[in-house]
Amino acid sequence: MALNLPQISLSVSIKNSLLTSVFLLLAILGGVSVMATMRLSALQDAVEAINRDRLPKIHALGDLNVSIAHAHLVAIRAALSTAPEPRAEAEGELKRRIVEVQAKIASFRETIGSDAPMKMAFDQFVHKWDLYLKQQAVMLEPEVGANRERLEHVVNVQAPPIFQAVVDAIGHSLKLADHRADSAIESATLDAQLFRIVLWSVNGVSVLIGLATLLFVIHDVSMPIFRITRSMEAIAKGELQTEIPYADHTNELGLMARALAVFRKSLVENERLNAATRTLSELSEWLQSAKSEPELYQMISTVLGGLMPECTGALYIYADSRDVLEVAAEWNGTSTTRSLHPDDCWSLRRGHVYIHGTNEVEFRCDHVHGDVDENYCCIPILAHGETVGLLHVEYNHQGEETEAEAKARFADRARLGLACAEHLSIAIANIKLREGLRDQSLRDALTGLNNRRCLIETARRQLLRASRSRTPVSIVTLDIDHFKSFNDNHGHEAGDTVLRHVGEILKTGFSGDDLPCRLGGEEFVVVMPNCGIEEAALRAEELRARVEALNISYGDGMLPRVTVSVGVAAYPEAGMDLTEILRVADGALYRAKQKGRNRVELASGGMVPPIDEVTDRAVAALDAIVARAETRPIATSPSPSTPSAVRSN
Ligand code: GH3
Ligand code: MG
Ligand code: MG
Repeated sequence: MALNLPQISLSVSIKNSLLTSVFLLLAILGGVSVMATMRLSALQDAVEAINRDRLPKIHALGDLNVSIAHAHLVAIRAALSTAPEPRAEAEGELKRRIVEVQAKIASFRETIGSDAPMKMAFDQFVHKWDLYLKQQAVMLEPEVGANRERLEHVVNVQAPPIFQAVVDAIGHSLKLADHRADSAIESATLDAQLFRIVLWSVNGVSVLIGLATLLFVIHDVSMPIFRITRSMEAIAKGELQTEIPYADHTNELGLMARALAVFRKSLVENERLNAATRTLSELSEWLQSAKSEPELYQMISTVLGGLMPECTGALYIYADSRDVLEVAAEWNGTSTTRSLHPDDCWSLRRGHVYIHGTNEVEFRCDHVHGDVDENYCCIPILAHGETVGLLHVEYNHQGEETEAEAKARFADRARLGLACAEHLSIAIANIKLREGLRDQSLRDALTGLNNRRCLIETARRQLLRASRSRTPVSIVTLDIDHFKSFNDNHGHEAGDTVLRHVGEILKTGFSGDDLPCRLGGEEFVVVMPNCGIEEAALRAEELRARVEALNISYGDGMLPRVTVSVGVAAYPEAGMDLTEILRVADGALYRAKQKGRNRVELASGGMVPPIDEVTDRAVAALDAIVARAETRPIATSPSPSTPSAVRSN
């Protein structure tokens, strides 16, 4: 059954003081209880002593009373005896009796002690006894005995009241002795009752205080400590979501609970950092496996967005011109600055990390807008000792956190950003190196065109794709005419210049999926996916014409005109694989050479007329169409068959 007592938020030191006071109180009550018990027992002893003391006194007074009565009777007998012998005998006995009474009086006086009322009453009796003895002496006088009438008067009238007064005085002493004992007993009994009440009250209060203390200790000390300890154990076991009770209390328990909450927070933070470290090492692994820069930047954006959910960030990379940095990746929101000048950023200007929001003296970077939180950092990204970019992280203040908490968390994110930057630097350096190497391995150094290796790799993929999509692929092969003698006449250097110019024409003349390559020497190939042989032939002719039209300045003068012979073949007609198609295209090229060079030959056997000849033919065809239109009667509506009229020609 749960106890539902009101929450008392007393400080533990106050509780300790209270408990100490309660224990002191209990000790005092215990002392009072012991004293009351002792006093009760003393009172009982006193009552017994009074009872013990009363009986001998009463007995002694009764005995004295009897002796006085006997003495009185003996005195009367002596007074009334007329014969000398009995009288003398009676007087002797009387003397003994009187001595006996006097001895008892003396003995009783000793037992009175300091009891003043009793002493007074007994003195009263002794006084009466003395009066009686005087009366007795009168009664025993010989003149009184000689006068019978007077004797009878003395014995019967004068002596009895005096004797009665003696007896009354004894009776009074007796009553007094009895009454005094009764009063003492009554008083002791009252005292005993009082002490009994005190004893019961003290015991009752002690039991109540004991019970209240027990409840208090259980509810306000033991239970809270037990609950907090249980939370501690759970947190220590790694159950970080465990609830921490009493955190809102203002006493030491609250302090303890809040300290535990701080400890848990740091554990959570540690756990998060560990997770971040794990993610970082995973990130590193992923980044190393990126196969291109765009893919790498995509990964960076995804991973950093997850690692720093409270931060907006962007990775800027230097453009080829190196005068500006452009956004390559961004996360958790779009960066307002799409590109920045190196001079706009303090980290790039000073050449090291710049953490804004943590220094006494600091200036905002020009690329950071005014509405951005003051906590941001810029980290230069280095690759092979050269700055290739900038990692920019902006902390977004979370609503519930204090300024200090925001600063602490931002500092943590900045550290994480630094760790990330190292990984990013390595990954970017790697990918750039790899892309450079790949570029070198796939590109011809003289012309910048793709090389034979690239041709083989790419063309095979394109042919495979074409076989799946059932689309054509055309291949054009070019060879510069009489290049050997050109070299011989103008030098190898001039030959290289020609090769570069031809390469430039190929680069500008073909784009998208087209793949212009230098096969080696003065031979070139262009692969054109999704392009039939007719279209390829037209473009080859265009190419040939552009080469023929080249005017190359070299040294102080101009180089002579160069021409190319071109062969065109297409997939699937020319063959199913690259080697086969190239062989067929080379056959066409060979024919072009044989037929006088500077021409385009198709694998199908046809020859592509020179471009100016095509133009002449097109102009003639147009003229014919126009002439026919002029001789034809005017139609009432535009004829939809006009294009077919063009085709029929
Ligand atoms: P054809 O019209 O029959 O093609 O005659 P050609 O002289 O062009 O043919 P050939 O195969 O006999 O000569 C090719 C020449 O190309 C030989 C070589 O000097 C030249 N050549 C090959 N590679 C280079 C190069 O990288 N630079 C220069 N300048 N010349 C090269
Ligand atoms: Mg050749
Ligand atoms: Mg040649």
